[in-house]
Amino acid sequence: VILPQPPEGAVKSRSWQEGRGALNRPVWPLCQLSGILFLAGPYKRFQELLEELPNPVQAGEIRYEDPAGALEPFLHLLALMEHLKQDGRADSQTPPLFTPEGDRTDPVEGTLAWIKQRVLERELDVINAKLCGPCRCTLCCTGPERHARQEYFEIPLKDSELDLFPTPRIDTEDSRSTRPDSEPALTVNGAPFYTQEPAIYRWLAGWSLILTRETRCPHLEPKGGCAIYPDRPGVCRKPQIFPVVIEEAPSSGPGGSTRATLRNTLLAVWDCPYVRTLKEDIVRFAERTGLNLVFKENKA
Ligand code: SF4
Ligand code: SF4
Repeated sequence: VILPQPPEGAVKSRSWQEGRGALNRPVWPLCQLSGILFLAGPYKRFQELLEELPNPVQAGEIRYEDPAGALEPFLHLLALMEHLKQDGRADSQTPPLFTPEGDRTDPVEGTLAWIKQRVLERELDVINAKLCGPCRCTLCCTGPERHARQEYFEIPLKDSELDLFPTPRIDTEDSRSTRPDSEPALTVNGAPFYTQEPAIYRWLAGWSLILTRETRCPHLEPKGGCAIYPDRPGVCRKPQIFPVVIEEAPSSGPGGSTRATLRNTLLAVWDCPYVRTLKEDIVRFAERTGLNLVFKENKA
């Protein structure tokens, strides 16, 4: 499988330069330093600390020229520490968090981890969008190539997103009781589902659009670009470099609730051309944000 490269000129584009620049200046070291100052200092509101921050601030290897301006977009997240400081308990917006060994984290560690997850999600959404555009790549919108190991590409959909697609739907007792990766594979018209035309399936875990080999999402325009870009499904907005500081998974207990586990990981999808091109920058981003970096393949 030949993985796409960014086209010539992409790395010189303004969008790429901004995305790469932001990748090398993560805001988390500054958030962390400010969090320590807030918890140790005489402040009731995080805003009070912002007003007193010196300029510039050196946090780890990064010098922030306008630290208050850099923190401003994340103030509503950093303010989750106010509740913690007032009565020593975590804010209700930061649910219980467990270590991988199953122990409950203390309120300070838990609160900081939730803030970190949300700060990084927000920051990486912007960075990914700046880097994806110049690549003119359609990998996230097409099925695997003819000789790829993978047989299909799955685009999970919410109920509310189904009507965005004119694609046939398969919702049978068999489909509803299995998963795409179950063995033996679901059969449709006597053959494995992944040998058929693209369709939306209702699986045990919910709906997904299945793009089989050498097929395209019906909204992918002939020259690339998404015809429903402003309304595209949530999964199409997911970045290729994403934080898993916290992993939320269905809990095994009754009630269908989720359990949050501390993972401190940064995932980067190796198939993506900007991920491969900016490997060293991503390694640095992970180091500077204190995360374990995992590159993973989506299509191969
Ligand atoms: S909806 Fe748009 S972004 Fe999502 S896979 Fe289709 S073309 Fe790509
Ligand atoms: S693989 Fe990367 S560059 Fe290609 S469409 Fe997906 S996010 Fe954009």
